[in-house]
Amino acid sequence: MGESSRGYLLRIAHANGHDTARNLWKALRWWDYPADRLLRMGLKLPRVAVEALGGPFPAYCQISRDLPGSLRVDDFNQVEFRWCPSCLAESEFVRMEWEIKLFCVCVVHKVILTDRCPACDSLQPLARGALGRCRCGTHLSVAPSVPASPELIAFHDSLLTVLAGWPVAGGLDLAPLQWLRLVKYFGSFGLEAPPTRPGQVPGLHKLQTSLRLTTATAHLLSDWPRNYHQLLDDIARSMPGAARLGHTYGRLYRAIYRDLAEPGFQFLRDAFETYLHKNWTGLLAKRNRRLKPGTITTHPRKSLRDMARQTKTGKSSIRRLASAGEIDGSAIRHAPGRTTWAFPVTAIGQAKERLAGTVNFQQARTLLGVNKRRVRELIDAGLVRTWVNPKDAQAAAWCISRKDVHTLAYAGKRIPGSYVDGDRRFVTLRHVLKFWQLKTGEFPAIIRAIQSGVLQCARDPRAPAGLGDTLFDAVEIRGWLHASRSAAEELLTIDGAATRLGLKQQVAYELVRSGLLHSVVNEDGTRRGRGVSLQAIDEFRRSYVPLTDIARSRGVGVRRVLGDLSARPVSGPRIDGSRQYFYRRSDIACRMEST
Ligand SMILES: [Zn+2]
Ligand SMILES: [Zn+2]
Repeated sequence: MGESSRGYLLRIAHANGHDTARNLWKALRWWDYPADRLLRMGLKLPRVAVEALGGPFPAYCQISRDLPGSLRVDDFNQVEFRWCPSCLAESEFVRMEWEIKLFCVCVVHKVILTDRCPACDSLQPLARGALGRCRCGTHLSVAPSVPASPELIAFHDSLLTVLAGWPVAGGLDLAPLQWLRLVKYFGSFGLEAPPTRPGQVPGLHKLQTSLRLTTATAHLLSDWPRNYHQLLDDIARSMPGAARLGHTYGRLYRAIYRDLAEPGFQFLRDAFETYLHKNWTGLLAKRNRRLKPGTITTHPRKSLRDMARQTKTGKSSIRRLASAGEIDGSAIRHAPGRTTWAFPVTAIGQAKERLAGTVNFQQARTLLGVNKRRVRELIDAGLVRTWVNPKDAQAAAWCISRKDVHTLAYAGKRIPGSYVDGDRRFVTLRHVLKFWQLKTGEFPAIIRAIQSGVLQCARDPRAPAGLGDTLFDAVEIRGWLHASRSAAEELLTIDGAATRLGLKQQVAYELVRSGLLHSVVNEDGTRRGRGVSLQAIDEFRRSYVPLTDIARSRGVGVRRVLGDLSARPVSGPRIDGSRQYFYRRSDIACRMEST
């Protein structure tokens, strides 16, 4: 039972002194019977025995018969022999399934089939002389065998079961031919290099090619649908910026909706659509006829219009918030100038929150009680967060965090009474800003010092809100300013600067070399080389931002950000061959939180 037709002929040929099956067949032709009756008449083989043989006869026999599982002759190997050494040792005959091109495992011994002689490493032609022995004389049954993985065994088990005409317990309701198409059209996506033309995998008569394909298929099918979803993830990641189903999943999409259109393959589509529901950040076109209608209507992504309606704002405000990276959403660029947006449901809440707590620039100025330039300094230093900056997002109005403005406008402990009391002379921040000739960055540094508690400040309860009337102890603030100025001039080594900036040393050296991080020759006799001042570090932080920070603030991957940003990095692998990407802060539509 289960012997291959071709193998049987070979065995009978040898038993009767013929070299090859072809010679046996020539001898049988001596009787003038029709080909399909030669076996029974010439060899006196009972009908049941003929019917027990599986797989095609060699072409020269001109016998056409039903093949197991309605497979086609082309699904069977005509070239190379593969075998299970243990099976061959138990009983020397060719098992029908060994001849199926997409069959690579012995489910009895749980090993991968072999196709080479253990001694001379040569492949064994199917039409060869001896059965079970190589031309060099070595027994094929002594070949070492490699254990097969449980998922590969399960796959072959199912294939054998459907070939025998039994249903697969708890498995897929597929005919054998469909199994093979599943492997070629779907399993091939699990290969290291996915097919350019799914369904057409050349060289399957070779064990290694076939084994790669069945292994990939078995992996995709096991732990369903986790590995499949992993594949979908990988495909999406390899196509950053692509935002249409057809672009991202084009080939796979066609394979599972068109090439494998029968109902039996619905499980592939169901798992695909479940994945889209959870992970597809784009919109699904209403007129898409391939996806189930429910998948489209329940897709948890909102369009720009939905967002505007639900947050009771205009589409332009939503677009601004999204391009500023303040709400989650992805831009889909269809063609130059045509962009649509898709938002997760959570973006509605984010947008409402952002829009509720904002003031415009003029309001911020009035509340803070400082001039325009000072407000901008605070914004640039990240001390006052903005949700929309007209300079970046081409918006008409600023959306500045009301909370941040309020915190600053009411900074300082309220001390009732006169603010000039005999011992301590107080000075207002307005006075400091006007007469003390602060250097660039010193105003935000003062605010930061207040926030961290390094510098004490107070406020006259009768004074209006605003930074201008914040009071400092004149001696204390002068001392602090002096100390911070001399510290700023102190030089760090480049390694020290790297630590300070939280960068890899190599990156800091590259930044120094490109001039983005200002350095001076260290003139202090004890140390040699270049040094970086704290001021230069501050200056660098104010001007540039690493791509990784942008990605983190937006909660998406770096590759995605790299694809989405229209601004050009000032440094990075594709710009000047350096290790890390940096952007000019003023170039990107996103205000970073203070770093
Ligand atoms: Zn075996
Ligand atoms: Zn050999």
